[in-house]
Amino acid sequence: MTFDTVIIGGGPAAASAALTLRARNKTVCIVTGEIADIPLSRSHKIANYPGLPEVSGRELLETMETQALAAGAELLRGRATAVMSLGGTFGVAVGSDFCEGRTVIFCTGVNTGKTFPGEKELLGRGVSYCVTCDGMLYRGKRACVVGFTSDAEAEAELLRSMGCQVQLFTEKKADYVLEGTDKVTGLRVDGVLYPCEGVFILRSAAAPDSLLSGLAMDGVHIAVDRDMAASVPGTFAAGDCVGRPYQVAKAVGDGNVAAVSAARYLEEKKA
Ligand SMILES: Cc1cc2nc3c(=O)[nH]c(=O)nc-3n(C[C@H](O)[C@H](O)[C@H](O)COP(=O)(O)OP(=O)(O)OC[C@H]3O[C@@H](n4cnc5c(N)ncnc54)[C@H](O)[C@@H]3O)c2cc1C
Repeated sequence: MTFDTVIIGGGPAAASAALTLRARNKTVCIVTGEIADIPLSRSHKIANYPGLPEVSGRELLETMETQALAAGAELLRGRATAVMSLGGTFGVAVGSDFCEGRTVIFCTGVNTGKTFPGEKELLGRGVSYCVTCDGMLYRGKRACVVGFTSDAEAEAELLRSMGCQVQLFTEKKADYVLEGTDKVTGLRVDGVLYPCEGVFILRSAAAPDSLLSGLAMDGVHIAVDRDMAASVPGTFAAGDCVGRPYQVAKAVGDGNVAAVSAARYLEEKKA
């Protein structure tokens, strides 16, 4: 099935966009990881979201997700690892899964994690963001997993089941450096070298322009116009990923605007 809109992300901007699109009778697939991986879920109390004075981050996120699903949005749990323009639609790779949308709304939050030295240069030459997609390439070889998501242990185990010798690192504050010129030869963690052929890096958020080629950025944010349209026609963005202030109320407003714009784009294309 081709959805009218694929929303990448599961925070407040995504929930708001999904509700607005469903109210306009558009089909929606939300691609997102576990709620525990959304930074807001760590907040014990949100004090400034109107109408909900005592809500915790986790409660708010669970309620928003439940509401979006009750409105008819579909959910695909996982990390989007690539968005491909298919000439009229967009294909979104989610591990070994795939979904397709006529439009895409990025609600990916702000990506504060810096890439590691060597990561960009060695991407596709031993560096991967997806165990399901690339794990088999390292069967019988040594692989390191740098995992900052709640499924990191499970992903390392999956690699082991594929026949890899796996070393898992989960410490966010450690100093990671990738070694190798043409291909990965090792991972240095706090100065200690772990020789390996593959490094899998699992973050809950990735730089949006690493997902879709040609997506214009403004620093760490996705560049959008006042309608939340991004540079690739048919793509929109909302919430922290388009800029400050990083707040729930602003994310919800952005999500609404992006959804209205996506719905209009779909209607205009149909006419
Ligand atoms: C500890 C903490 C406390 C906070 N307290 C407050 C507060 O009290 N009041 C307030 O207004 N704001 C608060 N904020 C800020 C608020 O959380 C954000 O402004 C808001 O959540 C932004 O919503 P969003 O939907 O844009 O992004 P997020 O809520 O960050 O959601 C982004 C989503 O995208 C997902 N994602 C990213 N990349 C991918 C991918 N490739 N594939 C699939 N999913 C992906 C992430 O996993 C996540 O689900 C707080 C933030 C933190 C960290």
